[in-house]
Amino acid sequence: MLLIEEFLDNCYEISREISEEALNALIEYIEDNYERIDDPLLSDVEIQVKLEEFRNYIIEAKKLPTHRALKRLSHVRGMVERFKYNFLTYSVTCESSEFAKSLDVPIKYAKGVGPAREKLLRKLGIQTIGDLISFFPRDYEDRRKVIPLMYVRENEKITTKGILKSVEKTKKGDLIIVSALLQDGINQVILKWFNQEFKEMELKQLVGREVYVTGSVKRGFFGAMEIQNPEISLSDSPERTILPIYPLTENLTQRTIRKIIADNLPSICNLRDLIPKEILEERRLIDVWKAYTGMHFPKSSFHYKISRKRLAYEELLLFQTALYLSKRNVKQVGGIPKSFSGRLAEEFISKLPFKLTNAQKRAHAEIREDMRSPDPMNRLLQGDVGSGKTLVAELAIIDNYEAGYQSAFMVPTSILAIQHFQKLFNHLTELGIRVALLIGSTSQREKEKIKFALRNGDLDVVVGTHALIQEDVHFANLGLVIIDEQHRFGVKQREELISKGKVVDTLIMTATPIPRTLSLTLYGDLDVSVIDEMPPGRKEIKTFTLRHTRAKEVYKFVREQVLENGDQAYIVYPLIEQSEAINAKAAEDMYRTLSKEAFPDIPMGLLHGRMSDEEKSDVMSKFVRGEIKILVSTSVIEVGVDVPNATIMVIENAERFGLAQLHQLRGRVGRGEKQSYCFLIVSEAGEEAWDRLQFFASTNDGFKISEYDLRLRGPGEFFGTRQHGLPEFKVADIISDTELMLIAREDAKRIVENYPDSEIIREVYRIYGERIRFLDVG
Ligand code: ADP
Ligand code: MG
Repeated sequence: MLLIEEFLDNCYEISREISEEALNALIEYIEDNYERIDDPLLSDVEIQVKLEEFRNYIIEAKKLPTHRALKRLSHVRGMVERFKYNFLTYSVTCESSEFAKSLDVPIKYAKGVGPAREKLLRKLGIQTIGDLISFFPRDYEDRRKVIPLMYVRENEKITTKGILKSVEKTKKGDLIIVSALLQDGINQVILKWFNQEFKEMELKQLVGREVYVTGSVKRGFFGAMEIQNPEISLSDSPERTILPIYPLTENLTQRTIRKIIADNLPSICNLRDLIPKEILEERRLIDVWKAYTGMHFPKSSFHYKISRKRLAYEELLLFQTALYLSKRNVKQVGGIPKSFSGRLAEEFISKLPFKLTNAQKRAHAEIREDMRSPDPMNRLLQGDVGSGKTLVAELAIIDNYEAGYQSAFMVPTSILAIQHFQKLFNHLTELGIRVALLIGSTSQREKEKIKFALRNGDLDVVVGTHALIQEDVHFANLGLVIIDEQHRFGVKQREELISKGKVVDTLIMTATPIPRTLSLTLYGDLDVSVIDEMPPGRKEIKTFTLRHTRAKEVYKFVREQVLENGDQAYIVYPLIEQSEAINAKAAEDMYRTLSKEAFPDIPMGLLHGRMSDEEKSDVMSKFVRGEIKILVSTSVIEVGVDVPNATIMVIENAERFGLAQLHQLRGRVGRGEKQSYCFLIVSEAGEEAWDRLQFFASTNDGFKISEYDLRLRGPGEFFGTRQHGLPEFKVADIISDTELMLIAREDAKRIVENYPDSEIIREVYRIYGERIRFLDVG
């Protein structure tokens, strides 16, 4: 039971190494397995002959002197590849008389489509021939392999073959059962159809003949193997193929849609390929029509694989080309190379109480190189919560200062701005760098002072929120923009800040670790630095998922840790309502209850979005200084807050948070040397939500978590509606097609530069149009 492609793939694997042992292994493999090949494609005489030739070519190597035999071995992999390309995909020649129908032709002009079918197809969103051929199967049924009855196992969907015997019909109450026996030699299975009385006639005509049977194997009441409601066909039927299964609604059968698609595929066989020939050849991509055929009616798994690859590549290429075009538009602004010795940053590093991690050093070096280059920096700094991104940002600020430029550091919340400001102020003032804070609640007088100083060049660094992008904020010579937690800002906000300088380098920081493919998609042609290493000595945060009935146990634990170890804790409430007033109230109520009942003797603080910046900052400072031991809060502390002595994070109604948010929250602890804990208290959660939280508890790896989350929710919801430029791909998988995305990205550059007038560029404008201007600032 071996398919040709399985046979070839095995030969390919054995020939990876060129040696006498490998040659002997290959010959042995071929001698043992050639006869086992059982593949519907063998009915093609040409394939039969070519396969025979291939076998003989290797077997005969036995008689040759070693060096010549090995030479043959070294050809095997190339031969296998050519064989697959030539014989395991369709080789189609279009009739020259047949002109490509445009993809825009309305579906009613398609072959085999009358008014009734037109209606059904439209229901599936199929309006044109183009829609029809891109209506891809959701799955395939591989009927090429025929499992002998002897090897038929329970709970597998298989195709098997045998002689049909004795058909009979029985009645059990309302149920009509037609059953038949399928035999080969001594083995047999029972076939059963329920309430399909008409089957009896059909089957009776097949008795005594060899048939193929496809279905799921079950064990019947008396222990015998059974296949229920199987598909049955004569052995010479063409159905021994890979069958597409379409996502259908009612009234259209698989058989019908298969036929409609099969009938209409040829009408586009002269379709012009968008991708330049040279690139197709270099990347070993099949032509577009072959790829469409392979998506619907793959001749082999190989055919499907390269078809999918080709079409996914095309989608990614179009997208990357759009990105590249937009980047080029931005790039033309130009930049200037900054010059600085780097001594100031070195001095700063030498005074730190710890050593930089290698990942931090690497990121810093990459940023330096960007800043010194004549092109403006466009870099994404990606690193899990607590990996030390802020420190790297500080180093960039110091270098930028040394080069003689101002820096702006924009963060999403005022709490975070205050915290960053305090940190930067402490660190940078001794280096002679002047830092200010600009947030909504900064007093009018103070604001005026800061703006005046920024405009005159009397300030070097400003940390702030959206307040930074007010129209009347001007800089003397802004040279570096840093944006933290980028996904919280919209496209325009970033552009606005950048436009306040002439030669601005941009560094974007995100703690949502996302797969490379996605960062390329979302952030376009940004370069990426990854901090994939935590500062040493960090312990895994221990995470527990508990039903709310056990909340008391958690509070008891918190109490002990605080009183005995001097630890600090967060207790967080989710957004329950749209209204922050209601949330604030929930947190307030809880704060009062807890300080009366669970923690009467422990200093507690309350933090929520309805408080003024001053109040918030006051509470935060007390928490930082350890005057407050337990901080009850809404999710306002989600981002960036850094208190190393806090070791416990209690999250109430944890099921209401998304995983990314939970990860952010958990990242508030585990920042020092002590063991940290995270408790997820669950109020009402279905099985799915519970599984999700269990998964979260099982890992501290932000990358794994976001990938899980992405798979669960899909990219659209994952990033929320604020994200522009997140395309919906039909074939490409935005999460796993990383390599293809990288290739497409490379080729996009070449296309824009070498084929400015090509079909593909026109297609890019047709699809992305106006959006091109915005894409890369995602
Ligand atoms: P992020 O912004 O990536 O979440 P931070 O920059 O806030 O992380 O750093 C988290 C904590 O780790 C801070 O207290 C910081 O001082 C500390 N830290 C940063 N780099 C190192 C390092 N190389 N070794 C030890 N501690 C570090
Ligand atoms: Mg941070």
